[in-house]
Amino acid sequence: MSYADLRELQSALSTASDIAFSLGAEPAPHEADQLVDALRRALSAASALGAGGGATGCAEHPKGPVDPLFGDKADPLPPGWGRCLLCNDRRRRASAQRRGWR
Ligand SMILES: [Zn+2]
Repeated sequence: MSYADLRELQSALSTASDIAFSLGAEPAPHEADQLVDALRRALSAASALGAGGGATGCAEHPKGPVDPLFGDKADPLPPGWGRCLLCNDRRRRASAQRRGWR
């Protein structure tokens, strides 16, 4: 567990809570997306807390490198992506292939 993971968890939970309490009776799709994204970040940070020093929060690569783009506000990762660079690279390759880039 690291202080950064704890801060990430607190920030994501606080964001999710802000969104949840500001929702009206009929939330817009993007509001629901933002909430899901914040909860995913919280889940990923919470998983990292129990990862025993693994910074990625990834079950497959707990000691792998962290994606430097994780948490980047200017160029955010797609929703649902974790902080594991190895898994994110695999996702990048997969989505590039789906779009026909090789
Ligand atoms: Zn991984």
